[in-house]
Amino acid sequence: MTTAARLLDAADGLLSSAASYLRARFGNAAIDDAQVQLYDLALSRAELTAARSLIALADRADSATIERRVACTFSAEALTNFRNRLSARTNDYGMTSADLAPIDDPFTVARLGAEALTELGRDLAAVSGALPDRLDDEKRLMRDTFRRFADEVVRPRAATVHRTDSMIPDEIIEGLKRLGCFGLSVPERFGGLKPDHGEDSLGMVLATEELSRGSLGAAGSLITRPEIVARALLEGGTAAQQARWLPALASGDPLCAVSVTEPGTGSDVAAVALRAKRVEGGWRLNGGKTWCTFAGKAGVILVLARTDADAQPPHRGLSLFLVEKPSTDAGEFVHHSEGGSVTGRAIATIGYRGMHSFEMFYDDFFVPDTHLVGEREGEGKGFYFTMRGFSGGRLQTAARACGLMQAAFESAVTYAQTRTVFDRKVADYPLTQAKFARMGMYLAACRCFSHSVANQMDKGAGQVEASLVKLLACRVAEWVSREAMQIHGGVGYAEETDVSRFYVDARVLSIFEGAEETLALRVIGKALLEAG
Ligand SMILES: Cc1cc2nc3c(=O)[nH]c(=O)nc-3n(C[C@H](O)[C@H](O)[C@H](O)COP(=O)(O)OP(=O)(O)OC[C@H]3O[C@@H](n4cnc5c(N)ncnc54)[C@H](O)[C@@H]3O)c2cc1C
Repeated sequence: MTTAARLLDAADGLLSSAASYLRARFGNAAIDDAQVQLYDLALSRAELTAARSLIALADRADSATIERRVACTFSAEALTNFRNRLSARTNDYGMTSADLAPIDDPFTVARLGAEALTELGRDLAAVSGALPDRLDDEKRLMRDTFRRFADEVVRPRAATVHRTDSMIPDEIIEGLKRLGCFGLSVPERFGGLKPDHGEDSLGMVLATEELSRGSLGAAGSLITRPEIVARALLEGGTAAQQARWLPALASGDPLCAVSVTEPGTGSDVAAVALRAKRVEGGWRLNGGKTWCTFAGKAGVILVLARTDADAQPPHRGLSLFLVEKPSTDAGEFVHHSEGGSVTGRAIATIGYRGMHSFEMFYDDFFVPDTHLVGEREGEGKGFYFTMRGFSGGRLQTAARACGLMQAAFESAVTYAQTRTVFDRKVADYPLTQAKFARMGMYLAACRCFSHSVANQMDKGAGQVEASLVKLLACRVAEWVSREAMQIHGGVGYAEETDVSRFYVDARVLSIFEGAEETLALRVIGKALLEAG
């Protein structure tokens, strides 16, 4: 452990030097002109920070041997990846190969040796990829409650929702209402489960992870929308808006959706163009939105719109509106409001089915003054209120990735233990065991990191870390579900097999809630340059 910690310190030093070099060479243009280098540094920062969270866990006096082995092996992997990324183009970081000496150590070779990996793989398979949990009784009860719900209510329905591309069944939505799931980000005084004078990001992470283990589309993503809407209202809503909307959102009545993305802009939120024009008693909305998930089922949609076309910088011209509409399970809808209308049409997708994501068009749609978040005070502040919700959404998306990975890992282990090839169980081959080791330790690293970020966010910090864990966990989930499918051989490619769903579902994680490149360059890369 001491060696791993020492090498991680050395890696941090190298990473800072590389970032300083980029800043000195490119100045403020580095985010656009040094993207290749910054992307690699961001990814390494994510892996190295995840390794540190595992080391912190394993350093606890009561930690089990398996935690220590996973911490050391994952650190070796993160260090090797970092070294490879630097050594591929040392010149670009103002370095030579000799500068990498501080992270060249027999430790990494020993930890990643074939024998060590296969042994770790067998042990991780035996515990289904789950290290001993360090939760207190309250959190364990919460996790177990959502785990039971996922096993009993979500999993039996997940394949049907996916294969028939149908709306999430009422049994799931009503059951989650009863569990208070929609109020996880709403303070207790407004009828939610969040402490009035604090945060409970870990509770939200645990619930999300368990539901996503049941199904990403049919349960695990339901909490993200009320999380973003509640945080935006808590940040910018008037007292009357908070009193009206937060208890309703907490009870899941109405359900809600969030609409930021437009056909012409996604990653660049400041460029949102849907126009909101002031009229007597309210606003008229005109323009297109797209990818608004759950827009059909939702009774209220949080819409980011442009209230000032000339604002400089442009993000100061954005405001948030609460658009009320009837809930529907249909794939298309039209809703009229005082001479205007909003139409929606579900977009066919390869995965992430159950909530349906809609393209929308607002045609002179009327929204009363009372539905501008913050009313007069909130005009021009929509960008900031949205961003407040997004960091919680990023952490939650990392938790979604962890739940999906857990399901993929379990299915791979179960299949490999029953399938015989060349007279041997697939699980008994060293190559499969090495796969289990790498899948399992990445899963453990992402989970441990997400719990650590939850704790940081509860103390008012962890904004960049939320992006780091989102970047890492979502990329890893794709690869873990790919490996799980590969272990299934041909049957993994059949639509009837759960693992094929995990694979297509995982693909979306790196696209939404901050696309991978945007997070790596504009959030993490920017922070690295500022600190370098
Ligand atoms: C299934 C699904 C559900 C969704 N649900 C919602 C929802 O409920 N509400 C909502 O508002 N949106 C939602 N989205 C939209 C999602 O947030 C956007 O797709 C995402 O923000 C990316 O925007 P974009 O699609 O316009 O891609 P673009 O911004 O056009 O990006 C295209 C590519 O360029 C990359 N890129 C961007 N900037 C840079 C740069 N500076 N340098 C290099 N590369 C760059 C991106 O990472 C991406 O790979 C959803 C999307 C999907 C697929």
